Amino acid sequence: MPLQIVSHPDYDAGFAPEHRFPMSKYGHLMDRLGELGLIGGLTQAEPIAAARLHLAHDADYVGQVLACSVPAHIEREIGFPVGERVSRRAQLAAGGTLAAAHLALAHGVACNAAGGSHHARRAQGAGFCTFNDVAIAALALLDGRLVGSVLVVDLDVHQGDGTAEILGGNPDVFTFSMHAEKNYPVRKVASGLDIGLPDGTGDDVYLEILVEALARLSRRGEWDLVFYNAGVDPHREDRLGRLALSDDGLRRRERMVIEHFRDAGIPLCAVIGGGYSTDVAALAARHAILFETASAFA
Ligand SMILES: [Zn+2]
Repeated sequence: MPLQIVSHPDYDAGFAPEHRFPMSKYGHLMDRLGELGLIGGLTQAEPIAAARLHLAHDADYVGQVLACSVPAHIEREIGFPVGERVSRRAQLAAGGTLAAAHLALAHGVACNAAGGSHHARRAQGAGFCTFNDVAIAALALLDGRLVGSVLVVDLDVHQGDGTAEILGGNPDVFTFSMHAEKNYPVRKVASGLDIGLPDGTGDDVYLEILVEALARLSRRGEWDLVFYNAGVDPHREDRLGRLALSDDGLRRRERMVIEHFRDAGIPLCAVIGGGYSTDVAALAARHAILFETASAFA
């Protein structure tokens, strides 16, 4: 079976190439997946329904994003203005993660070629994140009783503060974040399990800690679905990362996570998360490692 992938051309909101957020990585990623022969199972994302957004976000903020009237102080925290293309992109990315979650339940594993906007909180976006796609998808599936328990595994280099805030009080969701302790956000929101790593951790120590953490998560209980934020910003060449992982380290990480849950028969929905190298082709190739690895389990 080909790997189930959800994407959309409008995941790229068309920022200037010099923008701090490397928006063109989404198109480059799809090109790379095409070169690798991995897009045989492609689904086009659709914008998420507003009712689903309300499961995770305050009605005021949802209205502001949909009307492109987000207050300037919130836009500053997000890191870019929320115009029509950014608003559409946020709705598509959330719809894409929800679609990928449905595909994961049906096929075992699926990936959204965007998503992982884990700094978006209930009342507002932040840190390049507009809507929290994983929180929205988790709550939508729980609301529809398609799953009874959800695990979020967030290995983006930044702590998953928004996801922890939105899902924190929900007894049916457990959140895990492993990140660089000294990195953004300064004020972290406690996940169910947080592991803050020192700068320069490197492949071997990182993977040793991860294998133990995965075992701990599985001892906590049975999960109906895992959301995996596979941010590649722990890489040594990332502008915002500090954990000094190599491409090979990321490849071993993806295999470790996917194999752990698929061996246990738990469906896994992966999203790409952060990645901020200025070399967009190298960055896209790095994000593609997730898809290459997942395709072996499809
Ligand atoms: Zn990040």
